[in-house]
Amino acid sequence: MAQHFDYICLGAGSGGIASANRAAMRGAKVLLIEAKALGGTCVNVGCVPKKVMWYGAQVAEALHLYAKDYGFDVTVNKFDWNTLVDSREAYIDRIHGAYDRGLESNKVTLVRGYGRFVDERTIEVDGEHYTADNILIATGGSPTIPTIPGAEHGIDSDGFFALREQPKRVAVIGAGYIAVELAGVLHSLGSETHLFVRKHAPLRSFDPMLSEALMESMATDGPSLHINSTPQAVEKNADGSLTLKLENGESYEVDTLIWAIGRKPSTGNIGLENTQVQLNDKGYVIVDDQQNTTNPGIYCVGDIIQGGVELTPVAVKAGRLLSERLFNGMTDAKMDYKLIPTVVFSHPAIGTMGLSEPEAIAEYGEENVKVYGSGFTSMYTAITAHRQACKMKLVCAGPDETVVGIHGLGYGMDEILQGFGVAMKMGATKKDFDAVVAIHPTGAEEFVTMR
Ligand code: NDP
Repeated sequence: MAQHFDYICLGAGSGGIASANRAAMRGAKVLLIEAKALGGTCVNVGCVPKKVMWYGAQVAEALHLYAKDYGFDVTVNKFDWNTLVDSREAYIDRIHGAYDRGLESNKVTLVRGYGRFVDERTIEVDGEHYTADNILIATGGSPTIPTIPGAEHGIDSDGFFALREQPKRVAVIGAGYIAVELAGVLHSLGSETHLFVRKHAPLRSFDPMLSEALMESMATDGPSLHINSTPQAVEKNADGSLTLKLENGESYEVDTLIWAIGRKPSTGNIGLENTQVQLNDKGYVIVDDQQNTTNPGIYCVGDIIQGGVELTPVAVKAGRLLSERLFNGMTDAKMDYKLIPTVVFSHPAIGTMGLSEPEAIAEYGEENVKVYGSGFTSMYTAITAHRQACKMKLVCAGPDETVVGIHGLGYGMDEILQGFGVAMKMGATKKDFDAVVAIHPTGAEEFVTMR
């Protein structure tokens, strides 16, 4: 006999857990299914461990680059990669515990194992059948690896988080968030790090000011950036090292090679052929603006929806709103996928929201776009021999100069952006920004004092 629930969430990553908890808080009888660790990519092999490593890199920078000019006579005897990894994993274990307790207090039933659709209303896990009128697909994604010869000698971001030894020489391939973040962390922690991007710049889809400022920072501080560098093959050498061969004829010997060239949706093995759920040609689930798939009663959130934004808070918000709609009568609730603030944990950090300058010009016309900018040395580093640049930009459109894009690279940018996000969501104009008294001395104040 199948056990019946009001709501089944397939996948206990950020989106699945958030939606399951919210549905249960609204009185639904909820089943959550997960084969691996609670928290999915974000908690186990994504945002959380990455941020811990980034903080580790911040500590390294403080010790090596800034401590001396602040008067500290510091001798660093060694950096122990495993201590950092152990601290990180212990923290993640505590998060798992908190998730367990949260699910328990909300009375969400948790089943461990791989779930598969048997039909539109039934999921099977290890021979047991569970039915529900509403089923959420929140199975997330996984890293991709190219098809070039020897690609299997490289690791992906999951492999990076499994590293128990710090690579001495490392190649990171890719041009997006993950490549930039992992290359920055490894470089700051002391690995000889090479970042290979196949086009003219990393973060090409961001405002050009950001990718240019990042490249300037890499040129002075590292990691070694190799542009127009497309991998052709990877060879494993007798001593265990790897040779990365590029299409331009260059080759590099490293100990570890990390692919960070994008991710793919995990929709292939969950029995969707037994439903009416339609996928696009890349395997992403087609949904409408309320997370409905093409099969009534089956919904989808997170990294696997067509046209989505692959960010944890997006999945969380979409999952919660869906539960409010299904179990709390909020029939109009829907995720707004426009104007989402995001941070790249590069060195220094990048914060960005809204339109880049080229996007704003394309949308509003050049004559209707006004851009404000600021560049300075972060005060934290200004008294030291090792200066770090801050660059900021506001993209405004229309006669009222509505702020349609905000972009910055610099110390503290990761924490600066959130509040400005509120302002932009409310439709703030440049005049509204200027009406706020600056907090001095901070980096953030530049956003309200630009001329
Ligand atoms: P992205 O899709 O963001 O970037 C990967 C980039 O790698 C591509 O855009 C492409 O850039 C380049 N690339 C693609 N194929 C190849 C290839 N065969 N050889 C060399 N380069 C290639 O993927 P990520 O893996 O970086 O991140 C996935 C998603 O995870 C992101 O979209 C982001 O939303 C999320 N994320 C968010 C983070 C955060 O919020 N801080 C952190 C990490 C991930 P080009 O065309 O320019 O060569």
